[in-house]
Amino acid sequence: MRVLQVCSELFPLLKTGGLADVCAALPTALATHGCEVRVLLPAFPAIRAGIADAKPLAPAFALPEGAQLLHGTLADSTRVYLIDAPMYAHGANPYIGADGLPHADSHRRFALLGRVGAQLAEGLDPGWQPAVVHSHDWHAALAPVYLQAAAMRHRRRLAGSVFTIHNLAFQGVFPMVVEPELGLPAEFFGMRRLEFYGQVSFMKGGLVHADRLTTVSPTYAREIQTEEQGCGLDGVLRERAGDLSGILNGVDPKVWSPATDAGIAALYSATSMGGKAACRTALQAEFGLAPQQEAPLFGIVSRLTDQKGFNLVLAGLDELLGRGAQLVVLGSGDPALEAELRAAAAAHPAQVAVRFGYDEALAHRIVAGADVIGVPSRFEPCGLTQLYGLRYGTLPLVRRVGGLADSVVDCALENLADGSATGFVFERFDVGDYRAAVRRACVLHARPDEWRRVQATAMAQNFDWDAAAARYAALYRSVIA
Ligand code: ADP
Repeated sequence: MRVLQVCSELFPLLKTGGLADVCAALPTALATHGCEVRVLLPAFPAIRAGIADAKPLAPAFALPEGAQLLHGTLADSTRVYLIDAPMYAHGANPYIGADGLPHADSHRRFALLGRVGAQLAEGLDPGWQPAVVHSHDWHAALAPVYLQAAAMRHRRRLAGSVFTIHNLAFQGVFPMVVEPELGLPAEFFGMRRLEFYGQVSFMKGGLVHADRLTTVSPTYAREIQTEEQGCGLDGVLRERAGDLSGILNGVDPKVWSPATDAGIAALYSATSMGGKAACRTALQAEFGLAPQQEAPLFGIVSRLTDQKGFNLVLAGLDELLGRGAQLVVLGSGDPALEAELRAAAAAHPAQVAVRFGYDEALAHRIVAGADVIGVPSRFEPCGLTQLYGLRYGTLPLVRRVGGLADSVVDCALENLADGSATGFVFERFDVGDYRAAVRRACVLHARPDEWRRVQATAMAQNFDWDAAAARYAALYRSVIA
């Protein structure tokens, strides 16, 4: 079964969040389930530079926006198509310019991505036509829309379509004046289709036009059908409830395993935990923290946004400090949050340390060296960081929301008693609940035997890609049946 994966980022070439990890892991995971996956990406500079053998596809067809289609191979042998268009050449961040605002040509950048996805189903590469087009997030959400437009022109169905929501909060909404630039029939801009409160919504286009919808955890699939978490699209999602499913992301063990991670201070595994203490000591030294062993070391690796719960972390900091615990943060994003975190570190240099920017290697050292990994999100479609924490025996402290609710079991007495506990889970997005979870983490840490038992349970959790890939493959089969 030929599957075209349409996406805007891919680890390790270009990553702004979990989307890149997922898009990198899926093609190989799907190969063992009878899928031949090729990936379509914009040739952003970082992506273009990472595909050494990229060359134009012959015969060359004229594409919109002066683009040409290249093809090449990823390090793991996955075949890729790259859309090489002049507008992709500028800007280090694919979505945002140096001024911090979305690129002025964002609608054209990502309309082209969806459009070429549909063109591949129409036969753009005579040697390879997908049976299913699987697109990810709003950047690729117009692929199923262009696919339906093409099917109308050809008077036949060209391919099945699956659309995955990684974060409903980012929707790709543009003023209606962009309509003529998208090259779609006028009827596509009606209220039942792309129109969203007088504007054009790429996300809504994907939600309405794809054969099947998925999101990255079962809980988030339910949450986005509610007004509270539906970001204005809950009505559309409720109408499509029968076609919507939640498939929890996995972890790529080649990238995230304490037993083989070349970038951490010492290797370790569930049966040989000595290396974890070395990772912890190295992390304290690297961040200039006091080398204390009594209280837990909390780590956070995150985009700095309102979504990720930094207001709770800051408001609850005294709880953590008062118990002698420490906090390291690696983040990039909101300058105001950065300033607040910087001030906290300056006020408590032995206990709080921060680094800003995007640093994949440091993310690994934090996940390995911390005792607790914090993901106290307001909402969280899946969350990968807590899954990495589980694998590294770094107990997640999370809010019971989205994929966090589906992957972490609280250290409540009954869960400790039956051996199911894997971390610390709080209910409401409220500093009182957050503080209580910090307290539970500190109290458990003072009981080393129990802590080690919970660590063992956490490390035994299996969030591999195989189960997820089996479900995606079944979904693909259902749309081509
Ligand atoms: P989201 O996609 O909402 O950012 P996820 O938890 O799904 O959240 O995925 C985040 C991914 O990005 C993880 O792999 C995490 O380690 C990584 N990450 C986030 N911020 C940084 C950073 N500043 N430096 C390095 N890696 C980061």
